Amino acid sequence: MALLITDDCINCDVCEPECPNEAISMGAEFYQIDPHKCTECVGHYDEPQCALLCPVSCIPLHPDWRESKEELQAKYERLTSAKAAAEAEAKAKAA
Ligand code: SF4
Ligand code: SF4
Repeated sequence: MALLITDDCINCDVCEPECPNEAISMGAEFYQIDPHKCTECVGHYDEPQCALLCPVSCIPLHPDWRESKEELQAKYERLTSAKAAAEAEAKAKAA
């Protein structure tokens, strides 16, 4: 399951830099989470960091985005290899 930011968000900027998957960004009115990138922090931390740190507790589980632990782990592995490939490509271009 990915997480979801509700309209109770006060745009405090705390969660965005803490997401290990860069899944959080500013939306039209408040912050949002890209469910394709959110792994519930699986692969990085034991608990979802954004929900842990949010001062107004406005980051529940996304009701329409159900994934098992195994699917979240597979998503983490996909994101990690895509990031590594992009970094290697950038390095090769810079050389
Ligand atoms: Fe990012 Fe983790 Fe929050 Fe998902 S649960 S948005 S991966 S900090
Ligand atoms: Fe919004 Fe909570 Fe993130 Fe702050 S930590 S920007 S209130 S979702």
